[in-house]
Amino acid sequence: MGKIGGGQSDPPLAKEGVKVGASGGAGAGSPPRDAEATKNSPGTLLWVMDRLEAYLGENYPNFGIGYGGAFNSETATAEIRGALFDHCDHFDELIADCDTCGRKPGNNIRLLTGSGDGVYSGINYWAAQSYQGDHDINPELIASFYLFDRGSAHSRGIDARGWDSPMPFFFSNAVTYQEHQGSVVGDFTAGSEGFWIGDAGASDGSSYALVNHWGSENRSYRVIAFSEPVEAREIRGASAPDGVPVRPRIIVILGQQIANDVFGSGADFADIDWDAQPRMWGKLSVQANIGGGDNGVACLSNDGIYWEKVRKGFQGSSPALQRKYETEVLGRWYQAALVGHEKSYSYLADLLREVSDRPFTEEEILSALRSRGWSLATSRSSELIAKLTERIHHEHGVE
Ligand SMILES: [Zn+2]
Repeated sequence: MGKIGGGQSDPPLAKEGVKVGASGGAGAGSPPRDAEATKNSPGTLLWVMDRLEAYLGENYPNFGIGYGGAFNSETATAEIRGALFDHCDHFDELIADCDTCGRKPGNNIRLLTGSGDGVYSGINYWAAQSYQGDHDINPELIASFYLFDRGSAHSRGIDARGWDSPMPFFFSNAVTYQEHQGSVVGDFTAGSEGFWIGDAGASDGSSYALVNHWGSENRSYRVIAFSEPVEAREIRGASAPDGVPVRPRIIVILGQQIANDVFGSGADFADIDWDAQPRMWGKLSVQANIGGGDNGVACLSNDGIYWEKVRKGFQGSSPALQRKYETEVLGRWYQAALVGHEKSYSYLADLLREVSDRPFTEEEILSALRSRGWSLATSRSSELIAKLTERIHHEHGVE
């Protein structure tokens, strides 16, 4: 029986020398535990991990773990989007139901990001599977873990240690919250392009970095949040009659069937009235606009460098998977370039030069931008592509 740990060495998508990221065997290892943490009480992160570890070992013996990507929060929110939604005004709603933007119960959930704005990154668990020719390049996404603690090295998102050993790095940074009890926020179903996580204020065509999730297409997930209580002095308006707000610090997005199998009705989790939380979050002091700069572009550029590392390290035999990696790089640098990040033009030029024997088609460029959460790429495609191509041609000599 495999385990998260010694027997677990497959990186995500790993088969026959195919690797995602540099995680490799270095990603193995049980979650580091604080020496003081002995309770392992029902509903806590360590309790969840123990059960999940046993279940995956039995049912997904070749699962892999990898760095997932980073997003920037500028409105103290993380929104899970099951489809490409544009910005809309739903800041006081946990789950939006709106005909204008298409958000409906079951395709969106938004949460407070810890103490407020920051760069937050996640790790993914995938079911390993083999790749043959052009098929099967999206293995099932089992779970995603995000840490909403901008003070942690993990959440800086720019820390390459999280690339090489994603799981121990995540859990060593999450130790502060390992005794907090989880609570089920709700379920959602990802659309045909999977789901994204990012700031709820992210608009189509913006510089916001959203994280996409391979292998989540058309699958249903349960969101479990591990939160810390908020002290009364942090709440504006002394009466605070609504109840007690909580700060989500870790969220686990777990395959719905697995969640059912492992945790049943969720009776071991805390009972929180999540629908009431956004109103209370509105009364909290949150730390906003750190740096005031372009954290989205920093995330895009950094994750582009991550995928460039994956792409350059690729030694497999699947041209389709190689293209998938190239497209991940392309999407991030293309988006950054389109929103005016100068350095991304030269990154992009280098990439285009390197793959000049297999130039990207317009369809591939659109797909790369859609994976970034850009649906307007479809309607403005020719204009966008012409603009960028011309500039790269003129300044970098790339045909
Ligand atoms: Zn709306």
